[in-house]
Amino acid sequence: MTKIAVIGSGTMGRGIAYIAALNGFTVALHDINKESLKNAEKYIYDEWAKSEQRGFITKDDMEKGESNLNFSSNMKECVEDADLVIEAVLEIMDVKIKVFKELDQLCPPHTILATNTSTMSPTEIGAQTSRSDKVIAMHFFNPVHKMKLIEVIKGLDTSEETVEYAKDIGKQMKKEIVEVNEFPGFITSRMNCLIGNEAMNMLMEGVASAEDIDKSIKLGLNHPMGPLELADIVGLDTRLRNMEYLHQTLGEKYRPCPLLTKYVKAGKLGVKTGSGFFYYK
Ligand code: NAD
Repeated sequence: MTKIAVIGSGTMGRGIAYIAALNGFTVALHDINKESLKNAEKYIYDEWAKSEQRGFITKDDMEKGESNLNFSSNMKECVEDADLVIEAVLEIMDVKIKVFKELDQLCPPHTILATNTSTMSPTEIGAQTSRSDKVIAMHFFNPVHKMKLIEVIKGLDTSEETVEYAKDIGKQMKKEIVEVNEFPGFITSRMNCLIGNEAMNMLMEGVASAEDIDKSIKLGLNHPMGPLELADIVGLDTRLRNMEYLHQTLGEKYRPCPLLTKYVKAGKLGVKTGSGFFYYK
């Protein structure tokens, strides 16, 4: 059975562990923060229970998922027999590189190392390891159990075997795959960050209320969700890091809206802290 280790149990890591375990993979979810791991465990079991009650999964699926899934704050324990590692730590290049250097030391030679980065270069990350042919980006979407897409991004040295492996794993998780040539922000983040930033600029300029900006984009442009609500779900800290990276790499068009920076400074990070552009219970 393929073993997947997921590194980082925040918004994305817990979602990736959730669908991997439910689709028959053996999964170890790791975080350096024990509280985040505990919250992730509660989130996954609560979501499975809700899905079972609504008839989306069976009791048997849920029990199998539970037996496939382990949680640990010891990274070595999680990755030493992993076939695939999916990293979902903070969107900060230095943090990702530190994690990948450690993974390169701890994992067996055959292990594929994937990053769930929203914007960053798998080439740059892979170059810090001794296995750049086995480093790739697998960009999942939030919430992972509802969103159907994975963007697979090949670095300069990534082998075709690694690309095919990542695509196959994604399909086994019942996702649609698009292959993207490496460029900052890939397809989705490059587009989505721009839309979100424009919505924030309009809010800052007093063009309309947050409610009416989102309502216009939903009802007028037929988006399923407003850009401000979506940014709250992503996490405003994560969105700010995405914008900063795109600003550095793609230029002025991506300068983060000052209102976004202000919300992050105030600790209003969106759904995960209970308030952002909107309030959450
Ligand atoms: P998050 O802040 O919710 O979670 C990050 C987790 O990583 C935290 O629990 C933190 O304790 C843990 N962590 C930090 N350093 C670590 C380390 N050295 N070892 C182990 N764990 C560590 O972040 P997130 O929103 O889940 O984002 C994770 C990644 O996924 C980022 O690269 C982000 O850009 C990407 N992403 C996010 C979204 C989204 O909607 N939030 C969507 C797609 C991709």
